[in-house]
Amino acid sequence: MPPPGAFACRSADGASCPRDGDGSGPVFASAWGPTRATALAVSTRAFAAFDPKSPLRAHTIERRAVGPRDVAIEILWSGVCHSDIHQARDEWGGSKFPMVPGHEIIGRVTKVGAGVKKVKVGELAGIGCMVDSCRVCPQCERGTEQYCEDGASWTYNSFERDKTTPTYGGYSTDVVVDEAFALRIDPRLDPASAAPLLCAGVTMFSPLRHWDVKPGQRVGVIGLGGLGHMAVKLARAMGAEVTVFSTSEKKRADAIRLGASELVVSSHEPSMGKLAGAYDLVLDTVSAPHDLSTFTRLLKTDATLVLLGIPDKPFELPAGSLIGRRRSVAGSVIGGIAETQEMLDFCAEHGVTADVEIIPIEDINLAYERMLKSDVRYRFVIDVDSLRK
Ligand code: NAP
Ligand code: ZN
Ligand code: ZN
Repeated sequence: MPPPGAFACRSADGASCPRDGDGSGPVFASAWGPTRATALAVSTRAFAAFDPKSPLRAHTIERRAVGPRDVAIEILWSGVCHSDIHQARDEWGGSKFPMVPGHEIIGRVTKVGAGVKKVKVGELAGIGCMVDSCRVCPQCERGTEQYCEDGASWTYNSFERDKTTPTYGGYSTDVVVDEAFALRIDPRLDPASAAPLLCAGVTMFSPLRHWDVKPGQRVGVIGLGGLGHMAVKLARAMGAEVTVFSTSEKKRADAIRLGASELVVSSHEPSMGKLAGAYDLVLDTVSAPHDLSTFTRLLKTDATLVLLGIPDKPFELPAGSLIGRRRSVAGSVIGGIAETQEMLDFCAEHGVTADVEIIPIEDINLAYERMLKSDVRYRFVIDVDSLRK
């Protein structure tokens, strides 16, 4: 039984509410087993983590019927974020299983509720890390739903507003979302390489805007992975001069190609020492524990290092690494819906998308292993058609 209200038809648009109103809808038979679309919910193929230790595998979830303000999206592309690994392996604690990760979603709109204005059937649409929020708190009022005081409904490993119905992400064939949390995708953007903009892109765009990066300013980016490579491209598009701080030389040529003026190996003390006090903003995208004071010393007086990566262990930081130059260490999580749309439109205007490696869903466990070895150039994106076969 679904939890109360979980899959209730929210059809003010009457007969057009469910895809298959009389329950005689299409029946799919496959490795996923027979599934039937019903008036209340639509069975949907997915890939899920069932516990923190086992590989992800095929699963079936239910998507709610399309309500008056809902958009149904046939998912085409789903990016793979390091947060998917942290959560699938319960590294932050409190993970809910089975879990269908994925919060970099682009697909084709297949159905809209009667009240939907933002997108039309046949258009591309995107979903990022949130599918709802309280909409009335001061943070929601000012468009920073990611800081909703009642807690945003994250795209997966979270709950809808009833705090009961689980949310499931983009490693699935279809999704239904309130139009307020759907994003328009400019046709100039290649959809597969635009998918990572929905998390990695906005996660870097938001701090660059918040700390008001200006042409000619110096921005440091720590870690050249999914987030890091978007940081390089976006900071460069905003006119900043970018340095990548990496664990090895391996990505030097890529860093330059992506728009950085140099790559510095952060364990190379002479190079790091020369750059002390040189940066207006440093964006830390590292997914694993590391020494922060190696990087705070790069900041100018009054400048900020922003934590974007979410390692599973706390940092230690000597006060002396901050107070002598009134430096700050801050944190930031994704961006609001309006800001995500602004970022997508900025990327369409400036020709910015992610560098992607397309994979079939069967390769997801291998992709996780490669990400853990920093071996991705620079974002895996699942071709969701591979889930339909
Ligand atoms: P990713 O593609 O795996 O990239 C992480 C990069 O960090 C690696 O490419 C590597 O860069 C560096 N790195 C990895 N292990 C390291 C270590 N032990 N020491 C130093 N550097 C190391 O991951 P991602 O998808 O970009 O995500 C990065 C982090 O951001 C994750 O913790 C994720 O959960 C978090 N995240 C936060 C937000 C937010 O809103 N704040 C949004 C999305 C993701 P080099 O090879 O260049 O050293
Ligand atoms: Zn993410
Ligand atoms: Zn709120």
